[in-house]
Amino acid sequence: MTQSLQEPVTVIKGIGEETAASLREMNIETVQDLIEYLPFRYEDYRLKDLAEVQHEERVTVEGVVHSEPSLIYYSRKKSRLTVKLLVGRYLISAVFFNQPYLKNKIVLNETITVTGKWDRNRQTITVNEMKVGHHHHERELEPVYSIKGSVTVKSLRKYIQNAFLSYGNWIEENLPASLIQKYKLLSRHLALKAMHFPKDSNDLKQARRRMIYEEFLLFQLKMQALRKIQRENSMGVQQKYQLPLLKQYIATLPFPLTSAQKRVVNEILADMKSPYRMNRLLQGDVGSGKTVVASIALFASHTAGFQGALMVPTEILAEQHFQSLSKLLQPMGVNVALLTSSVKGKKRKEILYELAQGKIHTIIGTHALIQDEVNFQKLGLVITDEQHRFGVEQRRILREKGESPDVLFMTATPIPRTLAITVFGEMDVSIIDEMPAGRKTIETYWAKHDMLERVLAFMEKELRKGRQAYVICPLIEESEKLDLQNAIDVHNVLTQYFSGRFKVGLMHGKLHPSEKEEVMKEYSENKIQVLVSTTVVEVGVNVPNATFMLIYDAERFGLSQLHQLRGRVGRGSDQSYCILLADPKSENGKERMRIMTETNDGFVLSEKDLELRGPGDFFGKKQSGLPEFKVADMVHDYRVLEVARDDAAKLVSSQSFWTEPEYSPLRKYLKDSGVLEGEKLD
Ligand code: ADP
Ligand code: MG
Repeated sequence: MTQSLQEPVTVIKGIGEETAASLREMNIETVQDLIEYLPFRYEDYRLKDLAEVQHEERVTVEGVVHSEPSLIYYSRKKSRLTVKLLVGRYLISAVFFNQPYLKNKIVLNETITVTGKWDRNRQTITVNEMKVGHHHHERELEPVYSIKGSVTVKSLRKYIQNAFLSYGNWIEENLPASLIQKYKLLSRHLALKAMHFPKDSNDLKQARRRMIYEEFLLFQLKMQALRKIQRENSMGVQQKYQLPLLKQYIATLPFPLTSAQKRVVNEILADMKSPYRMNRLLQGDVGSGKTVVASIALFASHTAGFQGALMVPTEILAEQHFQSLSKLLQPMGVNVALLTSSVKGKKRKEILYELAQGKIHTIIGTHALIQDEVNFQKLGLVITDEQHRFGVEQRRILREKGESPDVLFMTATPIPRTLAITVFGEMDVSIIDEMPAGRKTIETYWAKHDMLERVLAFMEKELRKGRQAYVICPLIEESEKLDLQNAIDVHNVLTQYFSGRFKVGLMHGKLHPSEKEEVMKEYSENKIQVLVSTTVVEVGVNVPNATFMLIYDAERFGLSQLHQLRGRVGRGSDQSYCILLADPKSENGKERMRIMTETNDGFVLSEKDLELRGPGDFFGKKQSGLPEFKVADMVHDYRVLEVARDDAAKLVSSQSFWTEPEYSPLRKYLKDSGVLEGEKLD
């Protein structure tokens, strides 16, 4: 039956080969594609009260001509026609550019209807469309489509109309009747029709409501089915750790675990002990103590007779984790090793050999760890830190190493709940939502560039107390395109400024790994007091004596990134400071600076970041792995997303979902999208 919707678009009246070719460029091949090709916005021809119209908004008004039109020519082709209109109780001007012929159509005391852009300050409409007489438009809301080739918006509307006439009745419902009733949704047929030809704004609203729910439900269904299948089909390793040893280890820590740390440790241990494979995301703000949690999990794996791996995005981080984990775990008899791309030659061979022999128990490294040459004897647990920097593909390769090891993804970028349930919808999530006691909040100030001297004086005061400072720049070197501070120049300037008093170091991504290492070593040993750096220090770096951070051109960074950067200070017991040097031009930029000075809560910042920058920018476009929705908006329609997730979870865990005919369109969807293997289905 759906066969007919699968027919090529050429069966539709008016569509020939040439049009079909243009439609193909728009990814429209079948009748179904055409019907599901939705407008990206609507032209609004509803009459509005001018008091409610925003500046520069497009509007349609009906008014009585209140003055003789006056026409001015600037050149042979350029002209301006102006007329006064009485619109309700407002006397406004209507301006027409380069349409001199309209002068004769506009008659004093007659009614005309105009559509155009409203200039609130000048009380003027710049008219695009004019009609003599009262407002009456076929439709209040006219759909606008993106188009290619020979297709026009008008012709496309016609094709879609024809498609609905001949094929509309073939559009099948895909949602179960129970959900349609529960939420009083339009049928798929009526909703699609109203998306293209809304009778009025309420009709459109209902159609959108239905389409948004459908999009989210299908998406969440995929996630929830994936999660269920991963749990049930991926028999993982069962790690029977030795609890007494774990307790012994935890007792050696210089501090008691916070209750949030205890909770997530228990969640992780439960996963490790179970025969299912762990697929868990561990979220915790900078400094919330994830590394300790990771060390407990790695040690647990060791006591169960398995090897563990910790993967981080940069060499500096790998180095630091190696240091801190060795200190914690070595005394417990765990052999910890480091593997990065700068470990070469004989040393590398040795590590690879010992890893394959099981002589190394815990390995720390960069993505070098997921290369083919790296083999484990018995890999039980893989932990990745700052996981959003790893792409989806790397996540997959990781999971496939060894005999399906347990996988824990750690991130210090608090991910807004919104994104967590979309991007990581197929994972379990643990959250450390509590800071170790006694942490001081970092005092954050926003300063304009012309206050730099005072800022440097402030910085010097801290340095004199024996503290250290970071200075962050958006660029490494001078750029022709961007007028931004670069690390190399700033390094030169500050070296001169502090000459004879403090030593200034330079750190950026183009340095050789051994140079980076050297600089970081000097900084952590306080041989360098001021470290000028690009954002390479963003993640994980830990120098507790650093209490001052200055960020140049801070408006260039997103809130989450600023928060990450800021997390490099405030790691010791002393009061820390972060100065944002910025002259943002946009309101949005100013807002971001203000928010930074007001809160230290990573989750609050991440939600704000998402709100201000949108989901695409949040992770950076390339790696985001964010799904694209046609109608729905993850941020705006978040509530629906949550509802859809709960519905999807209930569906996949119910018996009837897998057997009853009511759900067969949804099962077919899962099958078509590759989530379900054929044989698992009816
Ligand atoms: P994260 O990796 O989450 O940013 P870390 O694990 O690096 O945080 O911990 C930050 C600092 O807090 C470290 O110096 C660590 O030793 C310390 N720390 C961790 N857990 C606790 C705790 N429960 N009580 C006190 N200090 C802690
Ligand atoms: Mg960390």
